[in-house]
Amino acid sequence: MSRVVVLFTRDLRTRDHPALAAAVRDHDEVVPLFVLDDRLLARSANRAAFLLDSLEALRKALRGALVVRRGDPAQAIASLRADSVYLTADVGPYARARERRLAAVARLSTFSGNAVVDPGEVAPGGGDHYRVFTPYWRAWSTAPRRELAPPPPPLELPPDVEPGELPELRALVTAEPSPHLPRGGEPEGRRRLAAFLESGLDRYGELRDVPGVEGTSRLSPYLRFGCVSALEVAESAAARGGDELVRQLAWRDFYRQLLAAFPSLGRDDYRPRGRRWRQDPDALEAWKSGRTGIPIVDAGMRQLATEGWMHNRVRLLAASLLVKSLGIDWRAGAAHFSELLVDGDLASNAGNWQWVAGTGTDTRPNRVFNPVRQARRFDPDGAYVRRYVPELAELGPAEVHEPWRLGPLGLEELGYPPPLVEIPASR
Ligand SMILES: Cc1cc2nc3c(=O)[nH]c(=O)nc-3n(C[C@H](O)[C@H](O)[C@H](O)COP(=O)(O)OP(=O)(O)OC[C@H]3O[C@@H](n4cnc5c(N)ncnc54)[C@H](O)[C@@H]3O)c2cc1C
Repeated sequence: MSRVVVLFTRDLRTRDHPALAAAVRDHDEVVPLFVLDDRLLARSANRAAFLLDSLEALRKALRGALVVRRGDPAQAIASLRADSVYLTADVGPYARARERRLAAVARLSTFSGNAVVDPGEVAPGGGDHYRVFTPYWRAWSTAPRRELAPPPPPLELPPDVEPGELPELRALVTAEPSPHLPRGGEPEGRRRLAAFLESGLDRYGELRDVPGVEGTSRLSPYLRFGCVSALEVAESAAARGGDELVRQLAWRDFYRQLLAAFPSLGRDDYRPRGRRWRQDPDALEAWKSGRTGIPIVDAGMRQLATEGWMHNRVRLLAASLLVKSLGIDWRAGAAHFSELLVDGDLASNAGNWQWVAGTGTDTRPNRVFNPVRQARRFDPDGAYVRRYVPELAELGPAEVHEPWRLGPLGLEELGYPPPLVEIPASR
């Protein structure tokens, strides 16, 4: 009899799971395991909540055959007396260190499953990773794809293995999660994918920048936790002509290969530009709490606080305001996003923040977004701002993005702050 542990991390699904499919093929006894790691849980109550939903769903999909432990994965694995460990490879420094620790105590095999194209699968001549997106996208588009893995047959845990309880959220984190989080898990991810392919993909190119409508897939948390397979999403979108969505998935892989090559992406400037950042705790606090006086940014920050998610166009504007207009270090903004985003992911978060800050891979590092011009263009009737900034709900389209036109008294009456920085005339 040979026993294998499949250690789940951020691949919380049964469909297209290469490590799980290989475990079933290669071994008599398969023990699916998830280890709750307090160091990761402490980073975000929102992600801890989504994780628990996803684990509950995974346990159900495996008909109860998911072992849950808390603490150190290496110890948990040792106590399960397995011959081998199968794991989906990951790119972050924490995941890499975990992989090294496991390899020291067990026979470890790693599999792909987190990306469409894994880091290192494509590389430019004379380099180990791409520094600019467009050539990466060209290479990514023609890189060979693996076959989707078959779903596993019903599994049964060996009789000596106790599955263990799934704890309550309160037992894992002290902070309160945001009130309107998406529900985690593979069934919910697949439901959203099917719905988006059916009725969102056709208009994605046209609506993806409009935050006031449901124009994007909202799959990011499900991709972050692997409740859906990135490869399956890419292939099903490509089969329906959804090239624009496929391109966004290439951005995700682009930042993964960047993090793989530059493990301190979350800490150090990828392209240092000698920028001196301003210390301004009050401005940072106003930004975090959605009180900058710039409606589109405040709407985004409040969406983040209540839903654990923010529309991409607004993420760009909120980040640009913090780093380019307020001169505050991108690391402070990235830390706040990382605490609240259900899709919070080191590669995508740090990669995008550095892109906006001009220390990353943007080929135009001095670009500054004008939040009023952008708001007029992408939220022309103010629907998005009105939804998240109720103080401005009654204003017409002319004032909703520039409430300072009402003057100090008008703002005071609304209970809305004057802008923290002067925005150049929008017209
Ligand atoms: C400052 C900033 C921070 C960000 N932090 C994160 C983060 O922590 N985690 C995260 O997943 N995304 C992050 N993004 C990227 C992007 O905003 C989200 O992926 C997107 O808004 C998710 O919504 P969606 O699933 O509806 O996207 P869709 O438009 O439906 O796109 C489909 C998928 O493509 C991927 N994707 C889309 N845009 C990007 C992008 N610019 N970079 C990388 N992947 C992308 C995501 O996996 C997304 O789910 C950040 C963007 C900015 C500007």
